[in-house]
Amino acid sequence: MASKPRFIMCTCTGECPGFKNVNFWKLLNFVRNELDVEYAVIHPQLCVDDGERFLEDLLRPEVKLVIGACDPRMQKKMLRDAFEKKGIAFEDTVVALDLRNMTTEEAMAKVKEAMDGTRNE
Ligand code: SF4
Repeated sequence: MASKPRFIMCTCTGECPGFKNVNFWKLLNFVRNELDVEYAVIHPQLCVDDGERFLEDLLRPEVKLVIGACDPRMQKKMLRDAFEKKGIAFEDTVVALDLRNMTTEEAMAKVKEAMDGTRNE
């Protein structure tokens, strides 16, 4: 049986004004308790060195990720080194969600919709 998706919330250091209306902990607890995921974690900055090492530890072809962060095109560009090192295509593995400029409730609804979509794949 295929494993469930993992949710990673990238908080952009926690200082990004785009996330000022998202309560990350409320969102994480909603995802891990209410949605069908392996787990949900929070990372402060996926697109710098320690974020890249974190992704490298995590990436395997069978592991599906839903990443809440910035614009999906930005995510693809900024996270590409880890994917290239592991020989894994970003598009095959990640559902990238832009959760900026949303309220917590809007972010919850967007993550839920994405998780529902991964179940139909
Ligand atoms: S991946 Fe996007 S949201 Fe995350 S730290 Fe980098 S720019 Fe910010």
